[in-house]
Amino acid sequence: MTQSVQVVQAQAVKQTRGVERIISGQFVMDGAGVKINRVLTGPLQRRLDPFLMLDAFGSEKPGEYIAGFPEHPHRGFETVTYMLHGRMRHRDSAGNEGLITDGGVQWMTAGRGVAHSEMPEQNEGLMEGFQLWLNLPARDKMTEPWYRDIPTEEVPRFTLDGGVTVQVIAGSTHGVDGAVQRETTQPLYLDLEIPAGVTVEQPIPAGHNAFVYVFRGEAVIEGKGVASGRMAILDNTPGADGVRIKAVAPTRLLVLAGRPLNEPIAQYGPFVMNTQDELYQAVEDFRAGKFA
Ligand code: MN
Repeated sequence: MTQSVQVVQAQAVKQTRGVERIISGQFVMDGAGVKINRVLTGPLQRRLDPFLMLDAFGSEKPGEYIAGFPEHPHRGFETVTYMLHGRMRHRDSAGNEGLITDGGVQWMTAGRGVAHSEMPEQNEGLMEGFQLWLNLPARDKMTEPWYRDIPTEEVPRFTLDGGVTVQVIAGSTHGVDGAVQRETTQPLYLDLEIPAGVTVEQPIPAGHNAFVYVFRGEAVIEGKGVASGRMAILDNTPGADGVRIKAVAPTRLLVLAGRPLNEPIAQYGPFVMNTQDELYQAVEDFRAGKFA
């Protein structure tokens, strides 16, 4: 299937945010032995509220991904998996099953609880992608689980007149609505492909926490270089209406922004609630088989 790609006039950013901090991430093994660069970790959850975690995975070595993520539970937030390359099979206890492939997205609202498995359906070649954890507001933490597979051809995309390609996974930008909208956290999740030497101006609502993760090439934001595999936490300068990003090489990066919940965050592994008591309850409910 071919897609016609719409050309959209770039919007100007009057005042850019700068880079508050560059994060290298840490290599961890998760699931049954998958090598991951954990970019957004626990200590940054408050600063980057409503985002709880960002994992980047990418390997051509089957030994670093083949074991996958066998059945495990979640409660209290949403997981968003974006596969750049490869095939991953999802199955969950709410009865959903789907195959996420090249360029596809899977959005799962764990809500009051699901158990799921995320297993590679390939035994060779590159597997590359991201998993983002987006928090739910306290009043929605025990909502019914929800799930959607978004194949690559259903991810809205357009080209800016400067040649930048934008995929809108969540939120809205330049008048284009993304695949998923969330009223409370208003997540903006973009994949930008920027030709070398081009500067893109990306509007971001004031007051939203925001970061950029570069996964190809190299970007410069307000004079600070952001290399591939690095996250730049953008500052919350009052009055800034977006971010100006220059690509010094052919560059691809994620832009994430969201409205902070400003609620207490209590996490125990795959459960993210507001209080310790709710965490004990989550463990008890899971053990008692009360998840979907
Ligand atoms: Mn999971």
